[in-house]
Amino acid sequence: TPGGGSRSREEKIVVTVRLRPLNKKEQLAKDQVVWECVDDHTIVSKPQVQERSHHPSSFTFDKVFGPESFTEHVYEDGVKNVALSALMGINATIFAYGQTSSGKTYTMRGVTEKAVNDIYNHIIQTPERDFTIKISGLEIYNENVRDLLNSDSSRALKLLDDPEKGTVVEKLVEETANNDQHLRHLISICEAQRQVGETALNDTSSRSHQIIRLTIQSTNRENSECVRSYMASLNFVDLAGSERASQSQADGTRLREGCHINLSLMTLTTVIRKLSVGKKCGHIPYRDSKLTRILQHSLGGNARTAIICTLSPASAHVEQSRNTLYFANRAK
Ligand code: ADP
Ligand code: MG
Repeated sequence: TPGGGSRSREEKIVVTVRLRPLNKKEQLAKDQVVWECVDDHTIVSKPQVQERSHHPSSFTFDKVFGPESFTEHVYEDGVKNVALSALMGINATIFAYGQTSSGKTYTMRGVTEKAVNDIYNHIIQTPERDFTIKISGLEIYNENVRDLLNSDSSRALKLLDDPEKGTVVEKLVEETANNDQHLRHLISICEAQRQVGETALNDTSSRSHQIIRLTIQSTNRENSECVRSYMASLNFVDLAGSERASQSQADGTRLREGCHINLSLMTLTTVIRKLSVGKKCGHIPYRDSKLTRILQHSLGGNARTAIICTLSPASAHVEQSRNTLYFANRAK
């Protein structure tokens, strides 16, 4: 809406963009900042970039966050409502999408932490309901699924089709959190497990997807005659670097390294594009990749989705940043 008023409740995909500050390396290389957030909704490329291209120079989103913005604001304006809907039985998924080193992990960790705080605040403020929170964590690397809560499991886990639950990950460990501190501890185990894989396999994080899934269940304890139960999944998804989504690289270096298309990432972008088109989008290819199969019930339908697209401000990354904005534009 003009002036950026509230969006209707039916709009299920919230798309925001976060521009990180120039990092040390970019500063030392005297890299230029080529993107600017000119208001709460608009990001533009600087004139020096516009002159030598025919690309659009301005993009608008639900919210854009400049390099000085705090993760708290990204959470409040781009994530909170979507995340908290899981307390009311509505499945929700939060994604971080962007090229490697654009700030996906930085942002996703921060918003997960803030969501955990809000969930437990809500539990304290809702004494009439009993809540159970379970957590599982997994990583998808080369279409293999690895358990992040089971350090013994280096074997790839299978996906099974359960007639009631849909796609389930066989033997995936699910822990019940006793309290907020325990939940934070379990999340940190998942993050540490991902780090282990990263060192062993030489930067898997740019190629792998991480999902931390909270399952939130609650029942009304006061009125036993009309027990109202809710159950929903809340997924925090730190995606593989978006440079894996396409082969149309600006520079040939990645191609020479043998960069292959990441099936899960490509399928996800197709699914999201189709969902954003709405009712007339036809067949949605959830079943084409592990990531979209695992997330199927938390995407589309009644589920709510927030996508945070992270961007490097540097001129060296202008092509990838533009690709990210194109994706973000198609998702809204
Ligand atoms: P990605 O997960 O997309 O590869 P990271 O989250 O690891 O990228 O971020 C790359 C580096 O940039 C990290 O050192 C991180 O701390 C830093 N960084 C990312 N986003 C921000 C931000 N908004 N503000 C400050 N530093 C950031
Ligand atoms: Mg990362």
